Amino acid sequence: MDRTRRMGRHRATSIEVVPWYAHVVPGRDELISSFLVRSAHRHGLSPYRFTAVTFPENVIWTRDIDSSLSDQALSLIAHYYGLTIDDVVAMTLFGFMGCASSSDPQWPACQRWINVIGIYHRLRLRFGLQFCPLCLKDEPVFQRAWRLSFVFACPKHGIFLRDCCPSCEMAVMPHRCKHEPTRCWQCGTVLHSFDGKDKGSADTALAVQYRMLRCLDGHGYCLGPELLSTPEFIHGASIMMRLIKQQLQSHPDLRPIHICTVDIREETRRLRTHSREALFSVLNELLEDWPVNFLHFAHAAGMTQLAFRTCGELPNWLTAAVALLPERLRTRPRNNDKWLIDHVCRLEHVGGAVSWALRAQALMRAAKGIYEC
Ligand SMILES: [Zn+2]
Ligand SMILES: [Zn+2]
Repeated sequence: MDRTRRMGRHRATSIEVVPWYAHVVPGRDELISSFLVRSAHRHGLSPYRFTAVTFPENVIWTRDIDSSLSDQALSLIAHYYGLTIDDVVAMTLFGFMGCASSSDPQWPACQRWINVIGIYHRLRLRFGLQFCPLCLKDEPVFQRAWRLSFVFACPKHGIFLRDCCPSCEMAVMPHRCKHEPTRCWQCGTVLHSFDGKDKGSADTALAVQYRMLRCLDGHGYCLGPELLSTPEFIHGASIMMRLIKQQLQSHPDLRPIHICTVDIREETRRLRTHSREALFSVLNELLEDWPVNFLHFAHAAGMTQLAFRTCGELPNWLTAAVALLPERLRTRPRNNDKWLIDHVCRLEHVGGAVSWALRAQALMRAAKGIYEC
């Protein structure tokens, strides 16, 4: 510490390093970032100062800590709050997906279902953190499920989630709020001042997300009479989602009305709530009555087995359905066909009455299966 009581380049000034004295209990399904913000406010500090003092060696707010909290920071939080490591992991997104840490080999695949928040220094440029205004009013914590790509509505209140400030439409950044994390950091509007009832019924969205969440809970996914394991389903569903987007891009008439071309080109986890909901509704529809709806969609989009050739190894449930698709739409011309096309082209090139007569003759003979001059 120098004469100005500055403790180092990255450390806050005029603060003694103190242990966490105010006890904060994790809320229902609370994100670790939300927990740290509440802890900072309970200690009368901004989240920046608080983490600079308690985690001097760790980068916190310039990372998506909910999906990448280091093992060292996990241990420190557990130590300060008298929690077990498992309790702290249970507040992270990798814990939600059943991974022990962010270095778990399963985690990169699971991350496809986690919304991107677009970290830029301490800002968040994307709308990956959603919230239910009514849940936030009941309990001022941000829940883990609100970061999932296939969560669009609140099962408790039956309304659509919001992903921005209802007033200035900025992305939600609880760590930038000086006092209350339930206010917009930019304009100060209370985030739960507008409920989501104006957005219409969320029943369909709830049905779609219920099936996906149930799968994550370890129940697997019921596909007709078959019960798929969670990794098996997630792997296949990721492939299906990628191909659905490719086909919707090529065949705009198959596209749900609520999704535009720009969104179709983006990764699903980067999209806003309404676009993700439209895409997951298509996926859910194709998984219904498996594989009948899938085959109808593939037929309308002109999909063949070739479309799946670059997708790597398919899970068994998808392989069986793909085998029902045609191998390819156009077959290569056979040798005889090739000979006939070349022969006819040559005659057309020569031109004149004789060539046209020979051309007609060749075509007539080919129709009878005779391929020779
Ligand atoms: Zn709610
Ligand atoms: Zn605002």
